[in-house]
Amino acid sequence: GTAQIGVTGLAVMGRNLARNFARNGYTVAVHNRTAARTEALVSEFGEEGAFLPASTPEELVESLERPRRVLVMVKAGAPTDAVIEEFAPLLEEGDMIIDGGNAHFEDTRRREKALRERGIHFVGTGVSGGEEGALRGPSIMPGGSAESYRALGPMLERIAAEADDGAPCTAYMGPDGAGHFVKMVHNGIEYADMQLIAEAYQLLRDVAGYGPARIAEIFRRWNTGRLDSYLIEITAEVLAHVDERTGEPFVDVVLDQAEQKGTGRWTVQAALDLGVPVPGIAEAVFARSLSGHAGLRRASRSLPGPTPAPLGEAAAARFADQVEQALYASKLVSYTQGFHEIRAGSEEYGWEVDPGAVAAIWRAGCIIRAAFLDRVRAAYDGRGDLPSLLSDETFAREIGEAQDDWRAVVAEAARQGVPVPGFAAALAYYDALRAERLPAALVQGQRDYFGAHTYRRTDGEGVFHTLWGGDRSETRED
Ligand code: NDP
Repeated sequence: GTAQIGVTGLAVMGRNLARNFARNGYTVAVHNRTAARTEALVSEFGEEGAFLPASTPEELVESLERPRRVLVMVKAGAPTDAVIEEFAPLLEEGDMIIDGGNAHFEDTRRREKALRERGIHFVGTGVSGGEEGALRGPSIMPGGSAESYRALGPMLERIAAEADDGAPCTAYMGPDGAGHFVKMVHNGIEYADMQLIAEAYQLLRDVAGYGPARIAEIFRRWNTGRLDSYLIEITAEVLAHVDERTGEPFVDVVLDQAEQKGTGRWTVQAALDLGVPVPGIAEAVFARSLSGHAGLRRASRSLPGPTPAPLGEAAAARFADQVEQALYASKLVSYTQGFHEIRAGSEEYGWEVDPGAVAAIWRAGCIIRAAFLDRVRAAYDGRGDLPSLLSDETFAREIGEAQDDWRAVVAEAARQGVPVPGFAAALAYYDALRAERLPAALVQGQRDYFGAHTYRRTDGEGVFHTLWGGDRSETRED
């Protein structure tokens, strides 16, 4: 065979990744269950590079040079297992199957183990950037064996997005599920970023009293500063858009019920299993969920509470600046939580994920790409053991400078009855981290009272229980 890579699954993502490889000079074997997609790819884009259409898995495998690289871009879940089972028997020791779909990292761990026992490398790979990113340069998060990365990495580096310093937005994340885990957390952070931006919009609308077009201008301005990011940029575009049917702002004619495909939920589920607090990401998932409960919302609309009263012009301008501070501080907190989860996953599964490398490959190509991520990369540079992103001096100083405005915004939102679960949860997390004493001491007392769950003391070693139902003397339990 002469093709350097084969792609099976030619819907939007697979087709565009195949074109990206071909445009970068690789010979790409292409296959799809339904042959029409393969034919369409070759007839529409055949002149972009060297494609070898294959009508069967056998044909695809035969057209590949060794070690064979088969990129699977089919629907995640059972279809991925089915396609792996089709191809694995056709492959030989040292060949690799790359799953670029949105697989759950536990599935990736299972598949990697099963294929490793058959001598095949399984490279679970997160791909972010959507359809456009797949074509022009996504952020790519590969896991699997270090050996497979040596044979595949250079190709991924050619098709990945490029950061401002020219570095490719892909790097080896770690063994088995590491790549898909990192991609999952990327999406969780994406949910949090989107929710925080949405809350900022709501505050500018209801409390500052601005219309969508004016808010679009504010986001454009913010996008020239430290919030410079793809999500802020597209937010301005969406807010400035006018519905062609009604002439109303687009945002006013869209049903306010957000949907989700599940990767945000996975991030929270994994965090619960790992015991990592990610309330910012969780609130973003819950906010989408709440928005979709139309009946519950309808039944609750008459509950008492304030109706927001917009501020005057001068106060509104000042408030908008405070919202920028609150948004930035809350964003810092959600990245802190996301990187904590990556560290915890890495420790649990022995991946040794380098947080600086993660930040570096998120700088371009993916949905959360942002100038900010170069600063996260710098914070972890040579300091992979940083206890938290907020332990970085620069970020600590910035959040300290933002906190007065952040508190003012959360307080004003509460006073005016504007829900800001993301901002408020981020602030609570920040204050909980700062606290000298947490009421967890009281919770331990309660647990010991009703369940004899025991407690430790501040003034020495040991595990204790108080005889709550008796004379309330203390016994040592260890
Ligand atoms: P879809 O998730 O819509 O999947 C469609 C593709 O899967 C088609 O090629 C289809 O073949 C194939 N397929 C489905 N079931 C089977 C099966 N049992 N056997 C063989 N082939 C099957 O395509 P996308 O391009 O949107 O996404 C591909 C993967 O990339 C998914 O895992 C997705 O989660 C992930 N992803 C998607 C992103 C996006 O923006 N869309 C972004 C990042 C990742 P056929 O044509 O014959 O029906």
